[in-house]
Amino acid sequence: MQPNGPRPNGTPHAGVTCLTNPGASLRGAATGGLLVVMRARVTKDFRFEAAHTLPSLPEGHKCRQMHGHSFKVEISIEGEVDESVGWVYDHKKISEAMAPLLDVLDHAYLNDIEGLESPTIERMAGWFWKKLSPQLPGLAEIVIFETPTARCSFKGEF
Ligand SMILES: [Zn+2]
Repeated sequence: MQPNGPRPNGTPHAGVTCLTNPGASLRGAATGGLLVVMRARVTKDFRFEAAHTLPSLPEGHKCRQMHGHSFKVEISIEGEVDESVGWVYDHKKISEAMAPLLDVLDHAYLNDIEGLESPTIERMAGWFWKKLSPQLPGLAEIVIFETPTARCSFKGEF
């Protein structure tokens, strides 16, 4: 299956969402200048294939059986737009932080991975957050799709 969830905010480029903040703050008044600081969110999408079982579910639940998904992960960063380059973040930094994680996850049996012994998408989102937040300042949200219509959004509230 190819997760392809709804994109309520539109997508100007494949896998990249950029939303401006209508409440952009003002700075520099004290020094006589007036500089509008723009805040924005950038998002990068990743995909991987993996198998799992959900052993904590009740006997007879179909998700206790071994099965696989084409997972999609959306990593969002929020921050001020750096006027010198015109962006919040280099998407390459997100890709570099994700690369070693995708190496572990892609075509794996998730239950064998430390921290993912019972890999619901909620627990997967928490796992990603713990791995990524030390490397990605401004990490704002992680969304994981396990099917085109089933996803979990997480903002780091443990
Ligand atoms: Zn599943």
